[in-house]
Amino acid sequence: MTAPQDTPIPPRKNFFSFSISARVLISTASAVTLVMLGFIHFFLSHQKDSIMAQNERTMILMINNINSALRTIMKAGYAHIAQEFTQDIRKNPAVLDFRILRITGQEAFLDNTTIHDVNRRIGEEEFMPREQESNSQILSRDDPDLQTVIHQNRIVTLHTKKNDEQQITYLAPIERDEKCGKCHGNEPKTRGVMLITTSLAQVESDITATRSKAIAVAVISLFFVLLLIYLMIHNFLIRPLGWIRDAMVRVANGHLEERIHVPGQDEISAITTTFNEMASRLLQTYAGLQQEQDKLSTIIIGAQEGIVVTDGQHNVVLVNPAAERLLGKDYDQIRNSGWEHLVDDPDYMRTFVANGGHNMPDLLVFNGRALKFHAATLHATDKLPIGTSIMIRDVTDEKKLEDKLRELSITDALTQLYNRRGLMDMLEKEIKRSQRYNHMLGFLFFDVDHFKKFNDTYGHDQGDRVLQAIGRTMKEHFRKVDTPCRYGGEEFCVILPDTSPRGAYIVAERFRRVVEAMVVDDLKVTISIGVATVPACEVNKVDDLIKKADDLLYEAKRNGRNQVKLATELEDMDRLNLEI
Ligand code: GH3
Ligand code: MG
Ligand code: MG
Repeated sequence: MTAPQDTPIPPRKNFFSFSISARVLISTASAVTLVMLGFIHFFLSHQKDSIMAQNERTMILMINNINSALRTIMKAGYAHIAQEFTQDIRKNPAVLDFRILRITGQEAFLDNTTIHDVNRRIGEEEFMPREQESNSQILSRDDPDLQTVIHQNRIVTLHTKKNDEQQITYLAPIERDEKCGKCHGNEPKTRGVMLITTSLAQVESDITATRSKAIAVAVISLFFVLLLIYLMIHNFLIRPLGWIRDAMVRVANGHLEERIHVPGQDEISAITTTFNEMASRLLQTYAGLQQEQDKLSTIIIGAQEGIVVTDGQHNVVLVNPAAERLLGKDYDQIRNSGWEHLVDDPDYMRTFVANGGHNMPDLLVFNGRALKFHAATLHATDKLPIGTSIMIRDVTDEKKLEDKLRELSITDALTQLYNRRGLMDMLEKEIKRSQRYNHMLGFLFFDVDHFKKFNDTYGHDQGDRVLQAIGRTMKEHFRKVDTPCRYGGEEFCVILPDTSPRGAYIVAERFRRVVEAMVVDDLKVTISIGVATVPACEVNKVDDLIKKADDLLYEAKRNGRNQVKLATELEDMDRLNLEI
């Protein structure tokens, strides 16, 4: 079953996912737009106020002009013309309404009330009454705006909205002067009120047009500001950063000689200087590492020991020539078959690498050579395992030398038989084997008779030659499974595996006779032999068995020499027919 694979979570998009230029542009555009909107708002509202104020000034000027024209007409005594005058003004398309009101809120020049008053005041029928009269109460008598105009003698401005059209109405006082008093009396000071209503549609249209122009100018300005900012960012920031990024990519790809030149002394120049220093140091370190690696490679390639290295996934990544030679395989074969098959015994290699070779046979015969393995796990600086190194040492010659030394250490130089040490080892093994398999074991111990005298008579060298002749005879005479040894001096032993007491006696007696018959340089010697056996002699230790045989040997000596002495108990036990 395969482990479920984690689907990589794509990084969440945020402001920092955009490029620097995009981020700076977004930030700058937001800031500039906000500032511009503020300015436009201020400008437009200021401009609206100023247009409205200008409109009002013009209207007041016009009202004053109409006022003075009306007064002139009235003073000249042409009251009937005043009515036509007002009607003419009303015809002006910019004027929605125009009336002259009495201070009672009634429209003037429609009935004969004033004409009768004036004729009465001047005492004659100066003004002809109107043939047709009408009455129009435009404002109520106590209208607060009307009262303000009358009592404060100032113009009142009223903003109204009719059918979605902004309108402005001015109520302006018509003051009386001395000449007016003649016809109308001197009280009150405000004789009448002029009402004029105009539309603000044109003014508002002008304001809208101005606003559109201002926004268009702002948008164009914003575009050019952003373009300028973009060009500055691109040339002063993005391009130099791009050079640095490209250089970093080339360095990352191994081009450590890469350097960047950014003129100036700003922060980016400081970064490039630091980058160049870093690349130089990297180059130096890399060169040093390369040198060390070359040295290491030379050592590994030239090493007499075989080296096989695996990576963290147990793939073979390095095989030196010595390993190829020792294993009799080339690099491709080793790599393809894997480290476990180095010596065609995967279990051995696996166990060996797993426990570092502890409690394992330290020698392995492979490819005709005795090989010694050493395995070590390679660790990274963070202590994590990153592979295994297997060292293979050819110990064939060492082994041969060791075997030779061992052989020498247990071989007697004069006779080439086992020496006493060899005897002890062999005897130990044979006693154990006989006990384990319940086999009998025979052991002969013999000594050359009167050898001191022989030496004294014929010389030591002659004595040596006799000892050598005895050694040769022993090798020829005894079975292959028997082990002839020189115990020391002119004393010898023979280990006889799987041999009964009787058999041992017979072998000893025969050999005694062979030696007796032996002629060395026309000279003859005899030997005395003690014969002990296991288990009959009830000894199970090497020293005890040797002592037993030695005792029997000296018994033979005491009995007159040149004879074989078997343990009495054996003679009794076997009832041997010792005639041979
Ligand atoms: P016995 O019959 O009682 O054994 O008399 P023996 O003279 O042999 O007495 P002993 O065993 O005490 O003497 C051993 C002699 O063997 C003494 C020594 O001169 C001689 N011998 C011991 N080793 C060597 C040797 O390597 N070469 C020679 N030529 N003689 C040796
Ligand atoms: Mg002796
Ligand atoms: Mg002797």
